[in-house]
Amino acid sequence: MDAAARAGATLTIDLNAVAANYRQLRDMLTPGTICAAVVKADAYGLGAAPVGLKLEAEGCRHFFVASVDEGLALRHTFEDAAPGHVSEIFVLSGPTASSAACFADGWLTPVLNTLEQVAVWQTFAGEAGRPLAAALHVDTGMSRLGLTADDFAALAAAPDLLVGILPRLVMSHLACADEPDNPMNRQQLVAFEALATRFPGVTRSIANSAGVLLDPTFHLEMVRPGIALYGPEPLISRERKLSQTVVIKSKILQVREIDLPQTVGYGATHRAAKPTRIATVPVGYADGYPRGLSNAGFAIVDGVRVPVVGRVSMDLITLDVSALPSARCGAGTEITLLGNGVDIDELADAAGTISYEILTHLGRRYHRTYLGAVDPRPRGAARP
Ligand SMILES: *Cc1c(COP(=O)(O)O)cnc(C)c1O
Repeated sequence: MDAAARAGATLTIDLNAVAANYRQLRDMLTPGTICAAVVKADAYGLGAAPVGLKLEAEGCRHFFVASVDEGLALRHTFEDAAPGHVSEIFVLSGPTASSAACFADGWLTPVLNTLEQVAVWQTFAGEAGRPLAAALHVDTGMSRLGLTADDFAALAAAPDLLVGILPRLVMSHLACADEPDNPMNRQQLVAFEALATRFPGVTRSIANSAGVLLDPTFHLEMVRPGIALYGPEPLISRERKLSQTVVIKSKILQVREIDLPQTVGYGATHRAAKPTRIATVPVGYADGYPRGLSNAGFAIVDGVRVPVVGRVSMDLITLDVSALPSARCGAGTEITLLGNGVDIDELADAAGTISYEILTHLGRRYHRTYLGAVDPRPRGAARP
């Protein structure tokens, strides 16, 4: 019995859909504007190596990750496939005195978020004896990462602080881009544009996925989409235009016929009052299926939408399949838990969360299959 058949559930990741989404976003930009790709958190759970290689093959040359370890792993993936550091990898969390050498080893570009990080990177560049590239992040409304506007201005006014550093990018991050009518979007853009004039000629970037869709004034010289590459719609209330990338399928383990009033699952939170057929499926919160979908989720069996009833357990969920005759729904019947009609944004809403959390929590027990994967060794280089 092969691994796919043994697994309780399968996860299919369509890299051609990721590539199509990348093209869709890039085609919205004026020529010359860079479409980077955010592949932090293992490309939002889809796999930073296969996603990174696919996007590189699509012509993407600028990648963002959260941590230095994510950056090193992605650099190894790229170098294994085709040595030569053709892509720039930005690390959003910036360097520390002890991690600076790892950045240099991995040809990683730090995003400098504080004056301390600027000083660390400058000291390291001095020791390395060569100027080193960096991005400068200025906070315009997140109060999370980034230099304050005052620190940013102080930096621009004191060129000494940047000797040895090559500012490659100035960036900021939108707080409310998923709400197109929120006035904060334009306020942040205006503030950022004013601050960025202090670094004339340096590439500017403020737009995440939602920012790309807001309007072209947000594109500047580089955009940084993440979630849109992976299929969810970034703007609240936009019709679905992006390609779906993820499908989760499983098979029914057992069907329980209930004819007496009877409860379902932990806590007895669901009570079947009339004759009911309950299908048990081997996926649970340990697989990243949100526990918030208890009595709220849904799946598709043979084209019919059926509700999750009772609580989501660690390894199991229960579905009310009374709408289907037993001939169409028994042990072994295939069911779809995500994709192919189970919309990720709708499911996330039902769970009281966002698509980002569903994707980044995709579990490790699924049998994973990639469609459209790029051969990691296109030049046919022999393994040593
Ligand atoms: C995660 C992140 C992005 C991508 O955001 P999406 O909403 O997924 O497009 C862009 N920029 C920064 C700084 C981020 O942290």
